[in-house]
Amino acid sequence: MVPHASSLEDLLSSFFEPEKLSDFYLCNKCGKSSKKSTKTLQIWRVPRFLIIHLKRSQFGKKNTDPITIPESLSLKSYMTISSDKSARYCQYNLCGMIMHQGVIEGGHYWCNVKESGKWY
Ligand SMILES: [Zn+2]
Repeated sequence: MVPHASSLEDLLSSFFEPEKLSDFYLCNKCGKSSKKSTKTLQIWRVPRFLIIHLKRSQFGKKNTDPITIPESLSLKSYMTISSDKSARYCQYNLCGMIMHQGVIEGGHYWCNVKESGKWY
């Protein structure tokens, strides 16, 4: 979790950051126990259309910290070594956003869409 994050890139870096685990694991090759374990998420295959849902409710409250969303986003650094990281597969261009205005119990949704290079 990133408190007061300012960009989508920060949030993604945090989401994909290796997580230290308190559990011990046995190596299935040599049978030895690991002292320190980490869990890492990586993307194996990217979708043609990427939809990111920011979960902004926390402890029954809405997180209203502003977040900048880039018009161009690459998932290259979060992909597995063996996956195809060519730009045509992991580069995304922003074409729309849905926002929520109001409080957690109610409000309105509105959106911005990009059509022919212009935002509406
Ligand atoms: Zn081992």
